[in-house]
Amino acid sequence: MHQTLKQTFGYSEFRFGQVEIIEQVLAGRDSFVLMPTGGGKSMCYQLPALLLPGLTVVVSPLMSLMKDQVDGLQAMGIAADFVNSSLTRDQVLDVFRRLRDGQIKLLYVAPERLLQEQFLQRLGDVGVSLFAIDEAHCVSQWGHDFRPDYIALSRLKQQFPQVPLLALTATADPATQQDIRQQLGLYQPFISISSFDRPNIRYTVLEKFRPLEQLVTLLKSQENQSGIVYCSSRKKVDELAEQLKGKGFAVGAYHAGLSNEQRALVQDQFKRDQLQLIVATVAFGMGVNKPNIRFVVHFDLPRTIEAYYQETGRAGRDGVAAEAIMLFDPADTARTRKWIETDENQSRIEVTLQRFNAMAAFAEAQTCRRQVLLNYFGEASQQACGNCDICLDPPQRFDGTELAQKALSCVWRVGQSFGMHHVIDVLRGSQGQKITELGHDKLSTYGIGKDKSHDYWLSVLRQLIHYGLLQQDITRHSVLQLLPAARPVLKGETSLQLAIPRLNAPTSPKAGKV
Ligand code: ADP
Ligand code: ZN
Repeated sequence: MHQTLKQTFGYSEFRFGQVEIIEQVLAGRDSFVLMPTGGGKSMCYQLPALLLPGLTVVVSPLMSLMKDQVDGLQAMGIAADFVNSSLTRDQVLDVFRRLRDGQIKLLYVAPERLLQEQFLQRLGDVGVSLFAIDEAHCVSQWGHDFRPDYIALSRLKQQFPQVPLLALTATADPATQQDIRQQLGLYQPFISISSFDRPNIRYTVLEKFRPLEQLVTLLKSQENQSGIVYCSSRKKVDELAEQLKGKGFAVGAYHAGLSNEQRALVQDQFKRDQLQLIVATVAFGMGVNKPNIRFVVHFDLPRTIEAYYQETGRAGRDGVAAEAIMLFDPADTARTRKWIETDENQSRIEVTLQRFNAMAAFAEAQTCRRQVLLNYFGEASQQACGNCDICLDPPQRFDGTELAQKALSCVWRVGQSFGMHHVIDVLRGSQGQKITELGHDKLSTYGIGKDKSHDYWLSVLRQLIHYGLLQQDITRHSVLQLLPAARPVLKGETSLQLAIPRLNAPTSPKAGKV
């Protein structure tokens, strides 16, 4: 093992977990491997492929990745090849011929191809020593990236009961892990779960006030370092990329609505540091193997913690300090929940909501972010990390009773018929036309909050919503309404602690503990 690692792959040591996994695989045992992206999963089947007598078949859902990997392996002198729908018929036949002649040790295939009857038959003839299922979470409907093609992989164990199966994934909560083992029919598998902690990544959640300005400040502080900004829609990606270009940043846009050529070009320019920044949807990332990404920004709240973890995990692959920054608008959570509920598939709604609620809870958490993340993945962690916004700058609280009273009574005075920005305008004594036309400059609450900025009030109102004193009526343009819990505060019967609003993004990456 060590000799092959050194001579063929050029590495002097195994990484955490690899030795045990490879030993088990070589011994012919089914195995389940949960290892974060970049942890070195591929080695767990590439090296056995060279030592096992027969063929190793790798199932992978990503065509572009397949070619990259195979090119890399061939360059190291390893007899690897791939079969997927990008090949012509003649090319496929050529691969088959070389398979038959024993000239291929490691074959990558797309799942839909693998399960064609003829193909399985050929594999049976060749003699398979190992099946490796990459991105194994795709087999589970609980997983966040279910692929119907993967379901049929359960047939592998039926058809090749004697061939060991190695399932690998970088993303699976405990329920998904269980499901993967069941779906693939792993027999008494060796289970290897590596730590998900990425200590060099610093997690920060910032309240979203003026996102473009916040983002620009952040980008400037990053001084030409590479980064990714994730947005929730193609439209937003296009808009934001244009805006940033207009401000002189070297930006590329990336989403599934662009042509293959455009996407390949952007990805390539990014890889070669010709673009500092990619603004992208979730479509960007699978297979991005750029080690020196220094920051990942979430412009919108992701839908699942898995997605968030994967996306932020693209930062700092080189182990050097990196930033994961999320711009968070609490109102987005209500909007997203409503949107999820429009799904026509009722049973899916529940799963999706559950996953989304965990994500929202992360963003709203007042405790160490890393602990929240690791606990989500079933990795109990009792200690605060010292390298997230909450640890580095613990939320400070103050007696916000008077501010709350001002805000609540203003909501009352405007007849519970206006949204946040109008209420804030009244509080701050704005002289806008709408205010005077409505006669809101005559209200007793007009101008009583002059001493605080717009964003400060925004944060206060959001907290009042969060604490259940106010709600936004989504059916009526998000107008603010009082809830019963507002009463005792208004009457001075209870006091209220608020968090001091954080108005500024950290402008330069402080040297965090790594
Ligand atoms: P994963 O599939 O888990 O995301 P990869 O298999 O792509 O990760 O491995 C990430 C990087 O780590 C690759 O460049 C790989 O060559 C490298 N790597 C794997 N094992 C070792 C090792 N034992 N020593 C040094 N580098 C390794
Ligand atoms: Zn922390």
